[in-house]
Amino acid sequence: MSKETTDTANSELPKTNFIHQEIDKDLQQGKNNGKVLTRFPPEPNGYLHIGHAKSICLNFGLGEYYKGGTNLRFDDTNPTKEDTEYVNSIMEDVSWLGFTWTNEPVYTSDYFQQLYDWAVLLILADKAYVDDQTAEQIAAQKGTPTTAGQHSPFRNRTVAENLDLFERMRKGEFKNGEHVLRAKIDMASPNMHMRDPLMYRIIHAHHHRTGNDWCIYPMYDFAHGQSDFYEGITHSICTLEFEVHRPLYEWFLNQILEADPKLKELPKTRQIEFARLNLNYTVMSKRRLLELVNSKIVTGWNDPRMPTISGLRRRGYTPESIRMFADKVGVARRENIIDVSLLEHCVREDLNKKAPRVYAVLNPVKVVITNFAEGEVEWMEAENNPEDDTMGTRTIPFTREIFIERDDFMEGAPSKFFRMDVGREVRLKNAYIVKCESITKDANGEITEIQCTYDANTKSGMEGSNRKVKGTLHWVSVNYSKQITVNLYDRLFKDEDPAGHKDVDFKEFLNPDSLNTINTCWIEPNFMEAGAKFNDGILRFQFQRLGYFCLDMDSKPDSPIFNRTVPLKDSWGKNA
Ligand code: ATP
Ligand code: MG
Repeated sequence: MSKETTDTANSELPKTNFIHQEIDKDLQQGKNNGKVLTRFPPEPNGYLHIGHAKSICLNFGLGEYYKGGTNLRFDDTNPTKEDTEYVNSIMEDVSWLGFTWTNEPVYTSDYFQQLYDWAVLLILADKAYVDDQTAEQIAAQKGTPTTAGQHSPFRNRTVAENLDLFERMRKGEFKNGEHVLRAKIDMASPNMHMRDPLMYRIIHAHHHRTGNDWCIYPMYDFAHGQSDFYEGITHSICTLEFEVHRPLYEWFLNQILEADPKLKELPKTRQIEFARLNLNYTVMSKRRLLELVNSKIVTGWNDPRMPTISGLRRRGYTPESIRMFADKVGVARRENIIDVSLLEHCVREDLNKKAPRVYAVLNPVKVVITNFAEGEVEWMEAENNPEDDTMGTRTIPFTREIFIERDDFMEGAPSKFFRMDVGREVRLKNAYIVKCESITKDANGEITEIQCTYDANTKSGMEGSNRKVKGTLHWVSVNYSKQITVNLYDRLFKDEDPAGHKDVDFKEFLNPDSLNTINTCWIEPNFMEAGAKFNDGILRFQFQRLGYFCLDMDSKPDSPIFNRTVPLKDSWGKNA
């Protein structure tokens, strides 16, 4: 799998990419009086995903780098799909990622009157006309990239007739689909987007902000470029598929400037395209993500298996890890697919430095230390994070009865199994070396209890503490630990490119084992003491040897729920 690289090797310096070089050129030529204003323009028709995160990091990153700014603009031109819930989630996600928009959030719907007025200017200049044909008829006349399209029979309407019809469209005299407004450009253009594209359509629907004020709505292509221009966006950073739309945006703007020359003094926006983020083992279109939500395959947009920002947050990802990921994938003009393991690598790297270590046992088997007094408890000191001593220490209770992971014991284990078997010694991390003496099984042959003895001279600081044994295990006290629920996740899809199969629905590739909830887990009693909350208020931990976990938002103090963010790649227990 190829990975993009950024141009700067030194990670201390702010990363730069080809877009920086283009902007630098503009600044050297004195364009826009040295000002840089970018924008992030989501349509509020779903929650943001990791692909949007790349765009957010890029746009806000440029705004910060050039000490300019970045607008958050909701591209809300389709009332049937948009909702305030999405607006709010987008603001939450952008803020959580650590970015601040420059002005108040703006909405394309704020410009509906201006866009309408500009459409009228185009009609007056005989550059736009009302077409009465159906969408199918218009599509049938479009032609192909190699053959010219046909003119609509309504293309030569008079300006007066067009004005009258457009005004009546706005007044609500017509039903959905009865008329559209089209630009009069060139039905033979090699660029299909220039073949008399739609500018307005009739949609009788309630809009999340303008209510029932409008029943005609501008097409994205008629709204986007002008919104950038209207806001004074100097650099409009788009994904590659918009490259072919650029001539159309320029055409619209040129017509408007022709018709309203005083606007010529305003800076023109420059559009620069980059390759979108593609990630394997997932789907990233909001339409498909909505399908997963609506069909209840996932619990919601923020299901921890979703590639949404809110899903990643609930999964335990940190904003820093997502920004690190955006940095590592870089910005290029070449399409490629990024391996999801890079995202996992980033969160491990971040949490390794920040997450306090605690002990939890997911699949317990009881161990009785027969020479340790019943009822006695010895509080052992444990570091909260070996990567950061400022995080201090805490104490964990060692008792006669403890739990270890069931798969840390193997009867008749091969010599390379450096964990527990009858007759072998292992170290219990932060406690003593114990020797397994015997086991008890039930009628089915399942081990119900392991009996050990401990060497009282092997605690940290004692003479025997340096004695070498091959295995080191994590453990919790039976009497003192708390029972918890743990969600373990696997990829949501079994296929690298679930949406990439012709004629096969992406849902056919769902992984039936993407969620494994276990209720029999135990955690040390003082886990809450182990570390402060992260900046975003979410509690995250490393469960020793098991991975990084966060406390789920639905967790209750007396019934904690943890989500595993990622397993650990390497751990001291495996081959210690
Ligand atoms: P989707 O196709 O997933 O539904 P979209 O492009 O329709 O996404 P928008 O709300 O229009 O979603 O996107 C807002 C911004 O995010 C746009 O500038 C878009 O180019 C960018 N963006 C969307 N998906 C990606 C991606 N995978 N990688 C990088 N940028 C993206
Ligand atoms: Mg879009």
